[in-house]
Amino acid sequence: MNILVDQDGPLADFEGEFHRRWRETYPDRHHIPPAERRVFKLNEEYGPEHSAAADEIVLTRGFFRDLPPVPGAVEAMETMLAAGHDVRICTAPVKLSLFCVGEKYNWVRQHLGQYWMSRVIISSDKTFVYGDYLIDDKPDITGAIEPAWEHVIYEAPYNRHANGGRRLASWKDWPQLIG
Ligand SMILES: [Mg+2]
Repeated sequence: MNILVDQDGPLADFEGEFHRRWRETYPDRHHIPPAERRVFKLNEEYGPEHSAAADEIVLTRGFFRDLPPVPGAVEAMETMLAAGHDVRICTAPVKLSLFCVGEKYNWVRQHLGQYWMSRVIISSDKTFVYGDYLIDDKPDITGAIEPAWEHVIYEAPYNRHANGGRRLASWKDWPQLIG
């Protein structure tokens, strides 16, 4: 199988790091714990009053570098590869960030190892990327063409409403999903 895995969400804990930084930067402001998030886009969830501040946290140097690995993610990537699957990291850049792409590569080197750097595919339109599955936390993935892959939703509080399709609640469940 050709398996594409999104980086932010399934592999790197974007939500946890954002919340930690938000609380640290704005201790007196309203905050939304990751478990209570309801909308995929952070700046929409935080509303017009706080959206610029939310964006600024994500655009800060070091944000993508510091994302903690999701429990079990690194092991699952290694195990899927060892099982003979062609596993790739398929990630869309935060286009306005000066640091996102470089830091994403560096994150892969640091947590998965240098070998995996050549398995990174950065694309703003994932429908152009070939695969059997795309494991991704974004509820609705659209693009210019009909994708070859089947979207497997990596579960998160903000994608519970998404209809149909396969879902992955935790990395320990991947063998049932792909097998
Ligand atoms: Mg994601």
